[in-house]
Amino acid sequence: MKQFSYRLSAVNWHSRIKLPFLVSARVRIAEIATVPTVQIARGFPCGRWDELAAYQPHVLVGTQSELQLVLDEIEKGRLDLSTVDRALVVLTYTCNALLDDVFRVRLWQAFGVPVYELLIGPNSTLMAAECEAHEGWHVQPEAEISFHAGEIRYSFRSNPVVQTGWAGRLEMERCPCGRDSARLVGLERVSRQTQRKFAATA
Ligand SMILES: [Zn+2]
Repeated sequence: MKQFSYRLSAVNWHSRIKLPFLVSARVRIAEIATVPTVQIARGFPCGRWDELAAYQPHVLVGTQSELQLVLDEIEKGRLDLSTVDRALVVLTYTCNALLDDVFRVRLWQAFGVPVYELLIGPNSTLMAAECEAHEGWHVQPEAEISFHAGEIRYSFRSNPVVQTGWAGRLEMERCPCGRDSARLVGLERVSRQTQRKFAATA
């Protein structure tokens, strides 16, 4: 398995997300986007696959739907992204589907690099991030997490609280990766079943 130096760091307020792990200046990061949301990343709109491949990225960033398009191109032999040798970063926005195991396996089979899912809130703020242990999502220092009727709610720097569409719980035990920050674990989409379960136990 290819290794990638991964270290959580404090998130600064910027209009673009700072990746929560150490990235050297020599690492080329490509994001499938017209305007990238990740700092340092160069944006490549969907369909500009030749330009993306020519950039020879080490890290590829995108939402699930965008990475799905990339996978389709690779599987059809129309795109070669074998330069991606550090990581895949999946951006999952609140109220969207979380990355599932089937898609993780497809990404692994196509790229053979670690996959990190970042949970993103309004105004492209980083709420929580997976670490290399893949034992949940580390809540970022300026993210405030609360729960309401089984659903996770999120606020960044005391900005208005938003619904995430996700249920789960906070784990305070030290992560196998060695970090002590709280983690969101057992995440799932909020469903009627979740709400019924919460109502039954409330
Ligand atoms: Zn961890």
